[in-house]
Amino acid sequence: MKEYLPYCTSTKPTNTLCKILIIDAQKGTETIKMMGKKFPLEQYSLNHLKRAKKHTCGHQLELVIGPSNLITDEEAEELKTLGDGCNDCDRIIEKEVPQFPAYTREQLKIWNSFWPISYKEPSILPIIQIKEEMKKIFEIMKSLDHDSAAIYNPKTEEICYGKKGDLPLQHPIMDAINNFPISDNQYYCNDHYLITKVEPCLMCGMALVHSRFERVYFMEKMEDGAYSYWRLHEKPLNYMYRVLRIKKNVFDENNEE
Ligand SMILES: [Zn+2]
Repeated sequence: MKEYLPYCTSTKPTNTLCKILIIDAQKGTETIKMMGKKFPLEQYSLNHLKRAKKHTCGHQLELVIGPSNLITDEEAEELKTLGDGCNDCDRIIEKEVPQFPAYTREQLKIWNSFWPISYKEPSILPIIQIKEEMKKIFEIMKSLDHDSAAIYNPKTEEICYGKKGDLPLQHPIMDAINNFPISDNQYYCNDHYLITKVEPCLMCGMALVHSRFERVYFMEKMEDGAYSYWRLHEKPLNYMYRVLRIKKNVFDENNEE
């Protein structure tokens, strides 16, 4: 079983173009302070970047200002008056820097080769699968076909099913959510698991977010699936459930026991 973690663990860097100010190293502390007020990196979601690095062809420092498309020409002109270009470079240059934080040591090494960054420890706790619960989930998964989905309450063991309808958007997951009994004190499916053989599409994946599901279990990836293709679990949403993919051979292993 593999969890689709809410952060990207790929080692392929995703960079973004930023404007960089070159200044005399002696003015470093003062300028970094000023930039922290005027161009806080948090506002560009770039606070994983360190502000400064050494300029390779002189004694200057390079300070990241912000994304090239968000720093106006006027702002750049104003900063230029502070800058001290080295003999070979302009006072303001552009560079590709890592767009996202590094969540693994491996990423850290690669990201750092573009721009110095700080390491962000993933904060999510591992899922502890209770054997009995896992058995039940397998059982439900086995009972499903490609045109059905199930909502499972692990506390009460209640199950609510959904089927594929005749209309194009009547997906099994949408049907299961529609069939889910809503009581006065329970508007959402929190604490519930959605179990489906096929990976949800983006529409269903979003519906599961709105319904506040706890977990999603699926087996087969889909070509334009919500996680394997759209990477919904990595988007900065207010809420995200945990996504687990059960590999087919787990059933066999389970049967051998
Ligand atoms: Zn769907």
